Amino acid sequence: MIIIMKDSASARDIAAVEKILEDYGFMTHPIHGEKKTVIGAIGDKRLLSMNQILMLSGVDNVVPIMKPYKLASKELQREQSVIDVGCGVKVGGKALAVFAGPCAIESQEQFSEIARSVKASGANILRGGAFKPRSSPYSFQGLASEGLEIMYNSGKECNMPICTEVVDTRDVELVAKYSDIIQIGARNMQNFQLLLEVGKCGKPILLKRGLASTMEEWLMAAEYIMSEGNENVILCERGIRTYETATRNTFDISAIPVSKELSHLPIIADPSHATGTYKYVAAVAKGAVAAGADGLMIEVHNCPEKAASDGPQSLKPEKFDALMKELDKIAVAVGRILL
Ligand code: PEP
Ligand code: MN
Repeated sequence: MIIIMKDSASARDIAAVEKILEDYGFMTHPIHGEKKTVIGAIGDKRLLSMNQILMLSGVDNVVPIMKPYKLASKELQREQSVIDVGCGVKVGGKALAVFAGPCAIESQEQFSEIARSVKASGANILRGGAFKPRSSPYSFQGLASEGLEIMYNSGKECNMPICTEVVDTRDVELVAKYSDIIQIGARNMQNFQLLLEVGKCGKPILLKRGLASTMEEWLMAAEYIMSEGNENVILCERGIRTYETATRNTFDISAIPVSKELSHLPIIADPSHATGTYKYVAAVAKGAVAAGADGLMIEVHNCPEKAASDGPQSLKPEKFDALMKELDKIAVAVGRILL
């Protein structure tokens, strides 16, 4: 439920309401607006009813949150969340967040070269996989901790935040130590233990949409992370499984406006995994920005023919550079900027 405090409520009233809620086992989430404070409260309404809360000093109104996801819901927080991911980069504000880099980290030379080139083209966040969730156990699984070190070095060199995936609860601490944003991949969107674990790690989380997940399932996955106290969740639409086989997945462009209506969390688009083919990446990237995405995640490789994973969908640095120039015009047309 949402407890709306009166304009005249004192700090003491607010603290007292929070204390009572917490005494009854509720999780509280205060949002201090310019004039008003509202308190999101999640817990068992049978223990403390809305009518009882209404009687507390300073309380103006109490309304239920109808959606099953509470902390992620627009009902709780109307303003869009803006997430600070480090090195001065924010996701969800006017400036678009552009995550770029190879699917997998292969060597320091490979990663450094790609990192420098995507930075020069205007990307503001580096991406790369050290732990790869491959469909086949015989495919390259990633360089693990060595990959994290490589990525960390490049992040420092380029002064860019780094985003990398974690696939196992046992590696969350390690990945959190090296990275600025932790990615939960599509295959793990409903790995609830992993979601709870990253909810405790203190780093922003990039939550990809599951292979065949509904918007509600996706927002419930965000809720798992947020329920552990981590409010910094960035959604990522990366295409869903449909009957179509011409593309690797089907990019669901409506996920962008729908998520904006249902949630205050920022959403970025990943046209690389959505299409699976480099030729289609630019068109889908431009469409996503036009539709209101807060950013993009694009796979870039200096030699896609030799990439250890996802070569066919990776853009060469010069193609990525050309895309960034075209995106600039679209960003301006929809009131956004590329830094
Ligand atoms: C990736 O980002 O390389 C990846 C494996 O993505 P997804 O989980 O969307 O398939
Ligand atoms: Mn990939």
